[in-house]
Amino acid sequence: MTHAPAASGRVLPTLNEDGTRNWIRPKPSPGRWWQRRRVVAWALMVLFIALPHLRIAGKPAILLDVPRRQFTILGTTFLPTDTLLLMLLLGSVVIAIFLFSALFGRVWCGWACPQTVYLEFLYRPIERWLEGGRSGSLQLDRAGRHFAPRRVLKYVIYLAISLVLGHTFLAYFVGTEALAQWIRLSPYEHPVPFIVMAVTTGLVFTDFTWFREQTCLIACPYGRWQSVLLDRQSMVVSYDYGRGEPRAMPKDRGADGAGDCIDCKACVTTCPTGIDIRNGLQMECVHCTQCMDACDAIMDKVGRPRGLIRYATQDALAGKPPRLLRPRVVLYPIALTLFLGGFIATLGLRPDADVTLLRGAGEPFTLEADGTVLNQVRLRLANRSRADHDYIVSVIGLGEEAQVIAPENPLAVRAGELRTTSLFVRLPRSAFEDGRRDITIRIAAGNSFNADYRFNLLGPADADEDDHE
Ligand code: SF4
Ligand code: SF4
Repeated sequence: MTHAPAASGRVLPTLNEDGTRNWIRPKPSPGRWWQRRRVVAWALMVLFIALPHLRIAGKPAILLDVPRRQFTILGTTFLPTDTLLLMLLLGSVVIAIFLFSALFGRVWCGWACPQTVYLEFLYRPIERWLEGGRSGSLQLDRAGRHFAPRRVLKYVIYLAISLVLGHTFLAYFVGTEALAQWIRLSPYEHPVPFIVMAVTTGLVFTDFTWFREQTCLIACPYGRWQSVLLDRQSMVVSYDYGRGEPRAMPKDRGADGAGDCIDCKACVTTCPTGIDIRNGLQMECVHCTQCMDACDAIMDKVGRPRGLIRYATQDALAGKPPRLLRPRVVLYPIALTLFLGGFIATLGLRPDADVTLLRGAGEPFTLEADGTVLNQVRLRLANRSRADHDYIVSVIGLGEEAQVIAPENPLAVRAGELRTTSLFVRLPRSAFEDGRRDITIRIAAGNSFNADYRFNLLGPADADEDDHE
């Protein structure tokens, strides 16, 4: 096999200098931080599976119906006409991420990102269990036994878990009822959702079996943003350089003022991205706290205080005082308040139905053989309320000579649904002035909704002259 020329200097921790993959088999450090993260991780995994099954006020807790462009989030349905609301919500989420990162660094990556949660608390524990811990995995790696029976069994279990995750992912977009039906049918009867599920399963399997920490190191854009999202007052997982250095192994330690780091490398062997936290803040650090637990256990053994590696700001480690009021910590909350406030106000003020009136496609009007003028009005109605309604459509203020044809009247629209229908208004030519005629369309649903909308019909501009001929 031909290898790439050796790189000089440091390459990615997942790559050997000859370009081959350096498989990272981190040693678990089940300390207090790991115990806390495990509780959070399992709560999140259960939540991910449960969310599509939960109902809030009769609606799914989450249903992202892309074909119909209807997004139900925590029981509230957003329709295609809710662009402003979705924009405000999305803006709030982005600003909240910025604020959170400025305050607490990559806490999302270490505690809540699905990549970390599933890899560290589901896939890797299964691997250790089947392959005989870290040393067993390393032995198989060194022997090149990628298809040893216990590894094959691991792949089978991984595939089963990935299938569950792939189906759950699909449920977020199609709902659990449709999913339950499709599971019993042939894929040929629902090819597109089946392909979505199969591709998702394949990606999940590939990610957690092979790609792993490279997702954080190479593919995830959030990791790349850290250099601009963090500042020296952000809380990050840090090695206390002043306390730890000069590092010295126990056999080399004298009474010459060696630091607390005994250079045992426990923090390196436990790191799931394969870095050495003692080299300072690095883009590859996902703030998983594993090195904190590993080092705390060592400090306990050597009788030194815990916290050589701990949550701290870079300024605090340099002996500088905390500075709570920094520009980003002031500006982000202001922006977040504006976006969230705008979202809540818009949500609270939006009417129970959203009505859009549009002119018919094609010709603006039709001149009928009997001399009358026919206008098509397209009516798009979104029922935002939590109940189904029958909407009665009427045109008010027209004389006896007018004729209104509404094929669907009342128009039945289910809660959270968007429907489009047409009505046709026939008027004599004399009803138009300068080719225009204003009408009022009233839409009512009992006591729940009642609103009038002005609409401008079009007709021949010479209507009066023709009538007088
Ligand atoms: S675990 Fe602690 S003592 Fe050991 S090398 Fe890392 S920082 Fe030094
Ligand atoms: S350096 Fe520590 S916190 Fe960062 S990824 Fe490695 S083990 Fe996790």
